[in-house]
This record gives sequence, C-alpha cells and structure tokens, in this order.
Amino acid sequence: MRYVSTRGGAAPVGLSAAIAAGLAPDGGLYVPERMPRIGAPPHSGYLAGTALRMLEPFFEGDPLAPELPAICAEAFAYPTPRRELRIDGAHLLELFHGPTAAFKDFGARFLAACLGRLRREAERPLTILVATSGDTGAAVGAAFDGMPGVRVAILYPDKRVSPRQAHQLGSFGDNVRALRVAGSFDDCQRLVKGALADTALQEDVAMSSANSISVGRLLPQMAYFGHASLHAEGRMNTIVPTGNLGNAVACLWARAIGLPIGDVIFACNANETLPEFFAGMPYRPRDAIPTIANAMDVGAPSNFERLVHLYGGEEATRRAGHAESVDDAEIRATIRRYAASDGEVFCPHTATGIRLFERRRLAGDRREWTVAATAHPAKFDTIVEPLVGRRVDVPEALETMLAREASAEPMAADARLFAEWLRAW
Ligand SMILES: *Cc1c(COP(=O)(O)O)cnc(C)c1O
Repeated sequence: MRYVSTRGGAAPVGLSAAIAAGLAPDGGLYVPERMPRIGAPPHSGYLAGTALRMLEPFFEGDPLAPELPAICAEAFAYPTPRRELRIDGAHLLELFHGPTAAFKDFGARFLAACLGRLRREAERPLTILVATSGDTGAAVGAAFDGMPGVRVAILYPDKRVSPRQAHQLGSFGDNVRALRVAGSFDDCQRLVKGALADTALQEDVAMSSANSISVGRLLPQMAYFGHASLHAEGRMNTIVPTGNLGNAVACLWARAIGLPIGDVIFACNANETLPEFFAGMPYRPRDAIPTIANAMDVGAPSNFERLVHLYGGEEATRRAGHAESVDDAEIRATIRRYAASDGEVFCPHTATGIRLFERRRLAGDRREWTVAATAHPAKFDTIVEPLVGRRVDVPEALETMLAREASAEPMAADARLFAEWLRAW
C-alpha cells in the first residue's frame, strides 16, 4: 500500500516513510492511495486480533509488515468495552482504559511501537512534536516516555487544559518536555505545522509529528470502531465526540473498508466549524473558542482534508456525515441529569455525544446508537465533580501519573522562538 498527500503535490510513499514524515512535503496529510475492501473480519474476542485483520492491508509491502502482530499486541493491550446504558438503546463504547484515561492512548502507543522500530538504526535522535488541547500530549508522552533515540516536545495552550491534564503533561522523564504556549490550541498546531514544514530546521533537527495528522495514529483508531461494530446488532450507528476529526475519520475509514458501521455523526462543542459545514454553509476554519470539553476546542480541524479526500469533494462529504454543536450549558445539564437519574458520570466530551443521542430520540429516531466515550470523567474532576455532587473515583493508572512531580516551560506563540528552542535542545 502506498500513501499519497491530500493535496496531491507530493510523490507517493510507503507507510514507514509516511509515518516517519508526519506531514507530506506539500503540506497535505498522508492518506492510503486507495481504501482496501476487507469486508467484515470474523468475530474475534480480542481487539488486537481485529486490529491485525483490519490493518494488514495498510501495511502490505512495508518493512513494518512482519512486525504488525507485535505492534498490535503492544498498542491494543487494553479492552474497549461496549455496554448498554439504561437509557433505551444507547451504548457506550469505553475508550478510556489506557494509561492516560483517554482514547488517544491507542493511537499514541501504536505510533510509538512503529516509530520505535523505525528508529532502531538511526543515529540522530528523532524529535516528535505534538500540539495538544490536553489529551494527545499526555498519551504521546506516556507512549514515548524513556524510549531511547526519541524525544517529545508537547505544546499545549497555557491555562486552557484541566489541572490534572496539565499535571500529566509535565510529569514525564527527560526525553519528554512540556511547553505551555501563550495562545490557543490552534496556535500550538500552527507552531508544529510550521516547524515541520521548515526545511532549514529539518536539517538541524530530525522531526516528526504525533498529532492525528500522523497516519500512524489514525490507522489504529479504526480498530476499536471496527471491533465494536462486529459485536453490535446490525450496523453500528455511531456518535463520535469530535475536535480535530481524527477519531471520526478513523471511524469512517473503518466503514469504508467494509466494517458494519452505519450512520456516523459528529458531536462538537460550541466550536461550530463542522456543524456549519454540514448544514450546507461553506467550510470556514477559524480560531477555537474555549469550552469545558477542551480536547475538542478546535476551529480548524486538521483532518478535514482527509474527510474531503475520502469522499472526493465537499458535497459528497456533506452527504456522508452530520455534525451538531452542544454548548457548555447543555454539556453541564447532561452530566448533571445522568448522574442524578442513572448514576452514570460522563466526561464533558462524552456528554456532547450523549446529548446528540438524546436529540435523536427527541426527533423520533428509535434506532440503536453507540456513543464513543472518549475520556474518563476523573480527568476532568474540577468540572464534573461540582456537577454530580460527589467525588469521581480515579483509575489506578491515572493516579500513578498524578503522584509524580510535574513541570512545564513557557513558550510564546512565535515560530522563530520555537525553532530556536528546538535547535538548542
Ligand atoms: C481528542 C479528544 C476528542 C476529539 O477527538 P478528535 O480525534 O480530535 O476529533 C474528544 N474527546 C476527548 C476526550 C479527546 O481527548
């Protein structure tokens, strides 16, 4: 399988090269040259088994192909239970049982397993750049923590991540450094994209990306949607809390290769770029506005290019999905209501999906829906606990991370200063 740029201005490359590069040289994102049709793999009790079957065609012909079973075993070491809520027909797909309690652990661990193998013979250290609105950075930091030959620079918007997220981001060993950027998530993303596209800087510092712009993070995210769909009744209609469109595109890729996934809708917070687009308005990227579902505070979703590429144009894309906004007041009300009526506690991101499910029901849609639960509520204790009126238990892995010391360095939203910092590391 070869990988091409969404912008069509770069030579096709193999998977290893696409993973190592992060961004394509023309500034586009790598996508598979064609979507393989695998149909539904036989039911497998194990996520790692389904992942292997789904990902094999994407690794065909690549030096990493013989390693894929081991890579899957390392990345998919945690279950993703799908369970029925007491509300009629809603299922929750729990993606938060990894070390940093959010779905991003899967992509980050998969990417780390790939890059670790690709770097074995390299002389220069590889510097991974990651812009994060909170959860990506922690997952990537945890996945690469202590890995020889690889360094990680995490950029996050200062004061716009939860205290526990900030603590996690600064809690890793010497090869993982956290930068708190004076600006928004989009500023962080611009710094990363700018550095990766800076050819002079690339000559001094070997860099790659670990954002969902890396195809090595997106591919594995197909696996849990595919796996869950094999255990659903009929086609699995899915609601995906969405920011940068990584998880949502992965879900649509899983559908495109033949997994039994039905309708897919994107739950957004008050950042309305995607809801407007799907309502028929022109695509208009903009700065993000801060919300309490901060990992979805994205005004210019970078995977939008992949989405449009998959369907071959904006009109066709509008027919393939649907997006709606849920504002902070509704997120709060949803969390409060379920805790009171059902004893279920959702993180603010998951709550956007739950709210969309409710809107479906109110509109008379009686079908079964699966909502992706993207993070554990304990990660957002300062928001969730006052709403539900009690302490939320902290998963053990998260507890361990929070017990470590943490620190972060300040950084201006300035490409030149960031390049200087990278050269000096
Ligand atoms: C990253 C994240 C999202 C958004 O996922 P995208 O792939 O960026 O669309 C939603 N919820 C949580 C908890 C996240 O960490």
